[in-house]
Amino acid sequence: MAQIGFIGLGNMGGPMVANLIAAGHSVSAFDISPDAVARAVESGATPADNAAAAANGVEVVITMLPAGTHVRSVMTEDDAVMDVLGKGALVIDCSTIDVPTARDMIAEAEKRGLEMIDAPVSGGVGGAGAGTLTFMCGGTASAFGRAEPVLQAMGKNIFHAGDAGAGQSAKVCNNLMLAIQMIAVSEGFGLAEKLGLNAQKLFDISSTATAQCWAMTSYCPVPGPVPTSPANNDYAAGFTVAMMLKDLKLSQEVASITGANTPLGAHATELYDAYATAGHEGLDFSAIIRHITSR
Ligand code: NAD
Repeated sequence: MAQIGFIGLGNMGGPMVANLIAAGHSVSAFDISPDAVARAVESGATPADNAAAAANGVEVVITMLPAGTHVRSVMTEDDAVMDVLGKGALVIDCSTIDVPTARDMIAEAEKRGLEMIDAPVSGGVGGAGAGTLTFMCGGTASAFGRAEPVLQAMGKNIFHAGDAGAGQSAKVCNNLMLAIQMIAVSEGFGLAEKLGLNAQKLFDISSTATAQCWAMTSYCPVPGPVPTSPANNDYAAGFTVAMMLKDLKLSQEVASITGANTPLGAHATELYDAYATAGHEGLDFSAIIRHITSR
């Protein structure tokens, strides 16, 4: 079992720490929010005074932070966690961040004789609590091989997507497709309503026909057909509009850098941006159906 430093104990990091401890790992935990640290301590973590202290003497550091700027600040700037770690230590960044920063951080780690992977997740707060997250990892086979047993304490499906940044690339492509599919399903059900077609009937047909997709069959944006979907709970998140917008913006940044053509991604970004700006950033992302159908 490993000595782990964990930095970023929010909605995702908090339950991930609890699962690491339940699996027998020792966790030294830090967050700029004292409340978040207190919750991690209740799970059995040891509190650290700052990020560098959480990383002091550990074999593995895990970060679960809001964005690339926070990861860079913690790793090489304000907290300089990479300068505290002993040679050969492993860094696992589970945050969803931009691909260029992920690649840069892994290069910085290698310069210091550390190993690092980018390992963003899918599965949300529910998956973090249940220990069933999907991890999409980028980095060397050696770093991935060392990270895999640690990630198994927090997740069910663990993929080595490729070299540095490949995990973030997979995450951003997945969420680009998901946002577009959610909007497509919303449009289809909106049109059905105008045509007087019963939503359950459309679901019964389309969920077994060619429009079948996860956004419909597991997360249907109209109340009724999928009882567990946020639509049945007034669109309480779930995965928020703000988070989907963040991921769509990341997709558009890399599309612009690489010259990839993502016309529907660009439009999805505009739609989510407009809905967030109208004050709905805290709702589940499936609430975009309200924006599409003007409910
Ligand atoms: P969160 O805002 O609840 O948690 C982030 C935590 O980081 C906060 O507790 C904050 O205080 C802490 N933090 C910020 N700057 C810090 C610093 N310099 N040092 C130490 N701690 C710092 O966010 P979350 O929902 O836990 O998401 C974390 C990451 O996971 C994000 O990158 C998000 O995109 C990704 N993600 C979230 C979900 C989800 O459903 N919530 C799903 C998949 C991926």
